[in-house]
Amino acid sequence: MNPRINNTLTRHKDELRPDGEGIFGMYCCGPTVYGPAHIGNFRTFIAQDVLRRTLELAGFNVRHVRNITDVDDKTIRESRKLGISLKEFTRKWEDKFHEDCLKLNMLPPSVEPRATEHIKEQLEMVSTLVDKGHAYPASDGSVYFKISTFPEYGRLSGLDLEHLDTQAVNSAGEVNSADEYERERVMDFALWKGRKPEDGENSWKSPWGEGRPGWHIECSAMSRKYLGDSFELHGGGVDLCFPHHENEIAQSMCATGVPPAKYWFHSAHLMVEGRKMSKSFGNLYTLDQLVEKGYSPMQVRYALISGHYRQQLNFTFKGLEDAKSALEKLRREIVSVLKTLGISEDDFKKFVVGKASGFEGTAFEGAWEALCDDLNVPKAMGEVFSAFSKKGDFSKRDVEAFGNILYALGLDIFADSKSSEIPEEVVALAEERWAAKKSKDFALADSLRKKLSDLGWNVLDKKDGYDIQKA
Ligand code: AMP
Ligand code: ZN
Repeated sequence: MNPRINNTLTRHKDELRPDGEGIFGMYCCGPTVYGPAHIGNFRTFIAQDVLRRTLELAGFNVRHVRNITDVDDKTIRESRKLGISLKEFTRKWEDKFHEDCLKLNMLPPSVEPRATEHIKEQLEMVSTLVDKGHAYPASDGSVYFKISTFPEYGRLSGLDLEHLDTQAVNSAGEVNSADEYERERVMDFALWKGRKPEDGENSWKSPWGEGRPGWHIECSAMSRKYLGDSFELHGGGVDLCFPHHENEIAQSMCATGVPPAKYWFHSAHLMVEGRKMSKSFGNLYTLDQLVEKGYSPMQVRYALISGHYRQQLNFTFKGLEDAKSALEKLRREIVSVLKTLGISEDDFKKFVVGKASGFEGTAFEGAWEALCDDLNVPKAMGEVFSAFSKKGDFSKRDVEAFGNILYALGLDIFADSKSSEIPEEVVALAEERWAAKKSKDFALADSLRKKLSDLGWNVLDKKDGYDIQKA
């Protein structure tokens, strides 16, 4: 069965199909790297990760491209405030993003292109649009896309051109902090931005003078480079539908003559007390903040996928507690099944892979069907728990199918249980080391750390204690 998703473009649940060679090209708008990503951002990126994993299980060869936005007003402003180069500044936040992705068990994309490393491709596309009459230079050295030359504008988000007199409010109803530039019509948007004094060193040469790319063009240029003029799926949070994705479609279609993507996948926001979690509202949580409060990344992941991706999800600490109980229950259930069947935990881990052994007739067929039906994770989880409640006659095939479902959800149910497997000797050494550190006997603390590492264990210090991890 091929998975189906609600396609924003057709407003239908469409069956997903790879191209003629079995490749499924998937472009997801990535983070703007000017600070730590918050768990709202991760809700969107994890929904894309679950989609990708599900498609892999369906047998598709997924090519997943997710860009890094490393030049825009915010990255430039913040790097200049700190007096460091844009590159040094953005690389630091990019590294942090990757660290969090890894902890959240997200698969790395096949390609992760940076905007600043694709200026040439962006300029080529802008030139094509100018040559074809879809764009015009303004007196300040900026270049604008002329929306009146693309009558299909607004199809994705369902906006009609007559009522569209600004790019300033996005599809989530929020005001975009778009710069004001000289454009012919207020709905036209910048492909290239002429240099302003506050850009500092951060500008590139172009046929229209020094400047930098507008945000939208990077995704059109990089999706084209890595996936071709036309690929399968494009994804992002719901706020990106308009204007960002609408602008991408306009740029790409006018430059290449074909629609860039067949399927558009938009995920709803993570909310806090009725408002979108966002940096500008100051109501955000980062993964680090939650880990510091004692929640594990796997709990966070579970909580973020526990609501359907198309419905807003309210962030609560109760949700994180529920995630903990659910993960523990899954672990207990599978451990008891494995015992009955005489399968070791290590052998079970080999079933948690992106190659389906077939769900038909297994206890997890319902969970797989739910995932294929518009990525219905809450329903799939319900099916999983109900399968375990009647688990009397689980077979090895059922266990393999469960491993596949865990792969699709990206859940490592053993991640939080490692502490119970730590040998007593290691725990005792770690305690001794912590006491030495607290009494400022750093030489002893270091020698105990070395002993632990010789035994194959690392200690990670936290504010009020430490974690022990297998090296
Ligand atoms: P940004 O780094 O701001 O470009 O955002 C990265 C991704 O996170 C985009 O796909 C946004 O649509 C998405 N996003 C931002 N805030 C939220 C939120 N509160 N809930 C879900 N997704 C979000
Ligand atoms: Zn984008």
